[in-house]
Amino acid sequence: MNHSYRKNVVIIGGGPAGLGAALMLAKRGWKDITVIEKRPSADYYEPDKSFSYQIDGRGQKLTDLLDITTKIADLSVPSNDFYLTLIQKDGKRKTTKLPIVDSKRKMAYWLPRASFVQVLYQEIQQHWQDAIQVLFNIECIEIKQNLDRLEIITQSKNQEQLIFVPNLLLGCDGLNSIVRETLHQMSERSHLFDMQKFPSPSAGLKYKVLSLPPQFPLSEQPGDISQSTMAYAIRSNFQGLKKAISLGLLPLKNQDFPRTANIIAYPDHQIWQLKTKEEVADFFKQAFPQIPIEKIISPEEIDRFTSSEGGKFPIPQYCEGLYKILGNPDNNEGTAVILFGDAVHCFPPDIGQGVNSALEDIYVFQEILADTQDNLSQALPQYQKIRQPDVQALIRLVQISYPWQYNQDPLQKRLWSLNLFLRLVLSKLLPFVFHPHSFVLIQNHELSYSEIVAKSNRTTQILLILTVLTILIFMGSFLP
Ligand SMILES: Cc1cc2nc3c(=O)[nH]c(=O)nc-3n(C[C@H](O)[C@H](O)[C@H](O)COP(=O)(O)OP(=O)(O)OC[C@H]3O[C@@H](n4cnc5c(N)ncnc54)[C@H](O)[C@@H]3O)c2cc1C
Repeated sequence: MNHSYRKNVVIIGGGPAGLGAALMLAKRGWKDITVIEKRPSADYYEPDKSFSYQIDGRGQKLTDLLDITTKIADLSVPSNDFYLTLIQKDGKRKTTKLPIVDSKRKMAYWLPRASFVQVLYQEIQQHWQDAIQVLFNIECIEIKQNLDRLEIITQSKNQEQLIFVPNLLLGCDGLNSIVRETLHQMSERSHLFDMQKFPSPSAGLKYKVLSLPPQFPLSEQPGDISQSTMAYAIRSNFQGLKKAISLGLLPLKNQDFPRTANIIAYPDHQIWQLKTKEEVADFFKQAFPQIPIEKIISPEEIDRFTSSEGGKFPIPQYCEGLYKILGNPDNNEGTAVILFGDAVHCFPPDIGQGVNSALEDIYVFQEILADTQDNLSQALPQYQKIRQPDVQALIRLVQISYPWQYNQDPLQKRLWSLNLFLRLVLSKLLPFVFHPHSFVLIQNHELSYSEIVAKSNRTTQILLILTVLTILIFMGSFLP
């Protein structure tokens, strides 16, 4: 095997994709892997990015390969223990267990993003320090082409510059990827690395995250406290799409960690128009009279929440190009570039596939590296050929699967539930004709995203034909 190319890998971005890819390459025997991450540490706590991931069977393909699924499970609430308590505006509570539609579905694990990234980083620290170095607090600020090589220019917090000239460059730097942008500029008139955008009712929703104490009181009664491993949906006292809100809390294994409550609403919602901490405190007090809100949200947290910019759910998007090869990187005379995760496909969190699709990207690439004996000139085009249709299908699934789950429109949500139920019943009665809803099919990690879209489209077509036939028969019955 030619080992010359096994030198000098640079990965921009030390999120799930970047650290996962570094571990995968190290496990395959690659050395000199440098991860450039602009954040100060792996478990750096950013309140507005403190959401939870559900690592499902798709993501576990990579975590199994890296032998870290047990570590993840130890820090997580498993999907078969997912209980949700709905607290209505009058204080009435109802706890339900998340239904398991497919008994063959692989167990999934809920854990905070910071804990997941920390597991990946610890694995590097414990087992792969000879192959991987992770440089925190360093940002890639420019990528220059010099003949057949790319020069990666980075800058640390104290303005120090470091330049890398890798044989293999991995763009794992998220939505605003500098690696993808560089490839776009190098491609001149081609649209290969342009993000193609697709509409969705959840795109553009604004979110902010509230940090709550680990076990906060649910009422004034002593001992009536929240459970960390329980999910909560707390409905507000307000009516109307621009005023009603809900606090959404996902389950958390660590009882000492702060809880996080997501607030998600369109940008014209009243909560986003509040300017002062007093206005925000008053809004929460009036919105949630059924819980002792002043004991739950501290004045400091109200202050932070008020001044936080929050975030916006991105428009579902992907780019067609997944790689570029300059020169001959296999002979140490060029640079191969490949993109993973949010750098190539990014979308709102409706179907919980952001992190799982990023991990699956890397798993698929690993299989191709194995088939091609790590020959980059063969592996990268093959990767694009195999993965691109699934990337496209993934974006379609985001559009159709569950974009109405954020209480934006009660009628649309009901229609969605009806559609889900109809497909579920029909698929149980006639499994060879109908398939369950795509939201259910996604949970089967053995199906590719393209297969799920194909099954979903087939069921839609049959339902349409049956509807048209029913209408024709009905109309025919009125003819003399
Ligand atoms: C509100 C919200 C909720 C979400 N919920 C879920 C969910 O429930 N389930 C799920 O699966 N997914 C969810 N996602 C999506 C998920 O977070 C992403 O899909 C996932 O993080 C992709 O991983 P990544 O490594 O590709 O990118 P990122 O996680 O974005 O990581 C990119 C990394 O690159 C670093 N970086 C960027 N540019 C540079 C640079 N120039 N130099 C150095 N470093 C750089 C960044 O600091 C970051 O650490 C959610 C996203 C949002 C916004």
